[in-house]
Amino acid sequence: MHIELKGVSKTYGSFKAVDNVSFAIERGKLIGLLGPSGGGKSTLLRILAGLETPDSGEIRINGKRVNDVAPQERGIGFVFQNYALFKHMSVYDNIAFGLTIRKASKAEIKSRVDELLELTGLRGFEKRYPHQLSGGQRQRVAFARALAPRPDLLLLDEPFAAIDAKVRKELRTWLKQLIATIGITSIFVTHDQDEAVEVADEMLIVQQGKLEQQGTPVEVYTQP
Ligand code: ADP
Ligand code: ADP
Repeated sequence: MHIELKGVSKTYGSFKAVDNVSFAIERGKLIGLLGPSGGGKSTLLRILAGLETPDSGEIRINGKRVNDVAPQERGIGFVFQNYALFKHMSVYDNIAFGLTIRKASKAEIKSRVDELLELTGLRGFEKRYPHQLSGGQRQRVAFARALAPRPDLLLLDEPFAAIDAKVRKELRTWLKQLIATIGITSIFVTHDQDEAVEVADEMLIVQQGKLEQQGTPVEVYTQP
């Protein structure tokens, strides 16, 4: 999946949350979207997902303008920081959700959920409910749920921010392996520089709504 933003801006009242941002991303990369809190990272992510319409500029995913494509057909999966799992659904049903709403057959759902339980190391947990899981396990369910419909793009908004430091480190390593295994283009929002350096193939640095830098971690930290 190729992603391109051209001159994208978004204003809230008189406040420019995103200010004339342009960039392109190649298929299969894990992009770290880094910058201080309030810099516009989440807004940019929501615009990319078509959840928010920019005031100007355009976003093309594989050549198509994102807002011209129905949400379910955009091929985008999300993981947010605060789990946002369905509390009254088992792990199995949480993972199956995106397939159920697309009216996949029971057999299809079972085979895909099995695959994801394996991929996320959650086999044996399928009958549990979110409150019976640790924070790290819940986030792995969130990844499985996001990946179930086979998206082309995965948007991760501080997915490990609410998890304690030791588990967070394990999850980063796990995530890098997961992404490498499935080869999906991903954008990972964080305000943690170490985290971005550790997970990202390439970084986008956003500050006060502006894209300040784009490059590999080495390029970004060796250029003034
Ligand atoms: P980040 O993700 O980098 O922390 P955000 O994109 O969440 O930054 O926010 C950028 C700025 O835009 C912040 O100052 C925030 O308060 C403001 N903002 C974001 N969403 C809204 C909204 N819906 N209405 C008004 N202001 C908003
Ligand atoms: P984060 O810090 O994780 O990026 P925020 O707490 O800034 O998230 O924002 C959470 C939600 O509140 C977002 O959907 C954002 O659009 C909205 N929001 C943020 N700032 C404002 C604001 N000043 N006015 C209205 N909505 C806002």
